[in-house]
Amino acid sequence: MAVSRVPEFWFPSRPPICGRSAQTDPVTSLFTTRRLGAPQRAALLDDILARIAARRGKPGVVVLDLDGTLMDNRPRVVAILRELAEEWRAKHPQAADRCASVTAAQIVYGFVENLKLAGVTEPELHESGLSFWKERFFRDPHVRHDIPVPGARDYAAACHDAGATIIYLTGRDLPNMALGSFASLRDLGFPIGRVGTELVTKPSFDMPDVDFKRAVAPELARIGNVIAVFDNEAANNNLFLEAHPHAVSVFLDTQHAPDPPPLDPRVQVIDTFER
Ligand SMILES: [Mg+2]
Repeated sequence: MAVSRVPEFWFPSRPPICGRSAQTDPVTSLFTTRRLGAPQRAALLDDILARIAARRGKPGVVVLDLDGTLMDNRPRVVAILRELAEEWRAKHPQAADRCASVTAAQIVYGFVENLKLAGVTEPELHESGLSFWKERFFRDPHVRHDIPVPGARDYAAACHDAGATIIYLTGRDLPNMALGSFASLRDLGFPIGRVGTELVTKPSFDMPDVDFKRAVAPELARIGNVIAVFDNEAANNNLFLEAHPHAVSVFLDTQHAPDPPPLDPRVQVIDTFER
């Protein structure tokens, strides 16, 4: 992420436009004008596979972020909203109904913002709702609600099949989310638990994601030559190019933290892994 971990702003930085989400509206993103068209996206993804297959000596490494890159975590938020609805049902029935009616396509970046968009206006409910969300969103059990970004599973498998070592490099933390993340990757059919795959997590929740990734990026050279990195935070795409200037850095234009830095002009922009 481009900023220190601020749970309130884990979600897409763009405000909702006409109630549509960033992942369903092709014109809402700050980076829309840089998105590759479908033929160019397919060519880019195929070129990375060709680079992996052409490696001699040390293996190629492909670095894949999870949230907002391989995984769409909006269904996780919807699941928490439905649990919150049950929590509030007796004392706040109207707010409960409103939380229960939210769909994944309506989810935006901030949880309080999601409550407001649903029609929950009471500040005390915003506060208690945010605490309820924090206790669940950053924990193993709710990761099971995530779904793959279109084409992500097949592309990760294609990279692995081509000979790359796959590094899932995530801002999720080891104490609270590593086991749920491993299970999610397994259950959604991503290559994991096999030779040539690793899940790398933050050592602690409080460490800012960008600091973590900046520290880890040079260490990846011990595994092989970094051929490509995929992330949905511009700061991460940029820092990987500093550490691995010959790698292809690909920005997933799905959702991102607020106020991203300018994206390095060398970074390629796509919104799905479909080929
Ligand atoms: Mg991410």
